[in-house]
Amino acid sequence: MSFPGSLSRRRWLAAAPFSPLGARFLSAQEVQARRGLPPLRITRVRTIQTRTNAAWSIVRIETSEPGLYGIGSASDMFRPGTIPPAVEVLAQGLLGRDPDEIEDIWQANRMSSLWRNSATMNVALGGVDAALWDIKGKRAGMPLYSLLGGRARAAVPVYDHAREETTFEGCEEAVRRSMERGFTHIRVQLGGYGGGGFIEPGKGERPRGGPPGRVFDEELYVHTIPALFAHIRARIGFGPKLLHDAQEHLTPLKALQLAKALEPAQMFFLEDALALEDLAWYRTLRHNTLTPQAAHEKLTGPAEYMPLISERLVDFIRFRVAKVGGITPARKIAAMAELYGVRTALQEGGDNDPVNFAASMHLDAAIQNFGIQEENHFTEEEREAFPGAPVVERAFLYPSNRPGLGVDIDEGRAAKLLKQAPSSRYQYVPPDRRIDGTFVRP
Ligand code: MG
Repeated sequence: MSFPGSLSRRRWLAAAPFSPLGARFLSAQEVQARRGLPPLRITRVRTIQTRTNAAWSIVRIETSEPGLYGIGSASDMFRPGTIPPAVEVLAQGLLGRDPDEIEDIWQANRMSSLWRNSATMNVALGGVDAALWDIKGKRAGMPLYSLLGGRARAAVPVYDHAREETTFEGCEEAVRRSMERGFTHIRVQLGGYGGGGFIEPGKGERPRGGPPGRVFDEELYVHTIPALFAHIRARIGFGPKLLHDAQEHLTPLKALQLAKALEPAQMFFLEDALALEDLAWYRTLRHNTLTPQAAHEKLTGPAEYMPLISERLVDFIRFRVAKVGGITPARKIAAMAELYGVRTALQEGGDNDPVNFAASMHLDAAIQNFGIQEENHFTEEEREAFPGAPVVERAFLYPSNRPGLGVDIDEGRAAKLLKQAPSSRYQYVPPDRRIDGTFVRP
């Protein structure tokens, strides 16, 4: 640690490389090997935004060693305009610090506003944290998974997304296409979230002034989705491991009904059957259904995961590395889950950037209780802008031995991906509504 007025261990070693002990017992090479690394300081922190409407925000931290920098994901596609100012706030406490002290930097910044769990500040901190791990790995000449304990598996299995808008046969074909591409774990959705539970525009008994468009009906959903999975099992069999994401659309007992009705399909997991506000109902699900549960990617505070894990309420713990505040808290959540026999299923998907995907991959590679990793994929232009971006090869990720996260950003190419200026400080996700106009979470 380097507090004002104290002489750090590193500086002490640098000042006295030939201690009596070293001179007496160690060879010159051993003395050199034990001298440690020279002091390092954070000199610059900034945010690079890219992709249409600045959906991707990348924190870049530079150090006093020329050419040594790290990058981390701080993406928030819904509030992209809030990220650069949030990173600027954190930067005030970072400049001049030793980037090696990741744990202390994470703790100090997370507590620095007394109130925590701001989704914006937390993802900004997640970007900072990953960038510091990237620096540490580059300095050590080691990939992140080595710093986290080393590889625990040959490759990281990934689950695919199979989606078709309207028919069971279309979903069946989508599953077959995924299987042809090598996937054994396949998430099946009938259209977007809530699909299978929508009453079409103009249909149904509607109140005056109610929503004219499609509306969500949870009874219809709980009727349709088990029938969809029964269809797939009947046509394809039990070879593929199947997943489904309810994306918090259901009230608690409807979630239980869905989980029970899906039991014959022997799901790999049912994701986010309950809304964030209904997490306590996982106790009811645990005692009443054999369908494995995965939750909950909308949590942001590491401590918020404790009841789900310590009471063994879910089978798979889900989070986005950047959104829980970076690699530092992510590895703790994963370690806590390991002790309780809960596996991981890290969140990815369309709005995530290659830097977060790389962080997930390294954590996946190094932990014992890995369950499955959600897929992500990038266009050719996106991969060119992020050299080293992870690529799924027939359902597996193969972490490279490049130091740190192993992914970089080409700022010139990244600027070209920003097809629309990051003017939007607030993007609105239209909610689904019930037929009477009630908002449907999330
Ligand atoms: Mg989800």
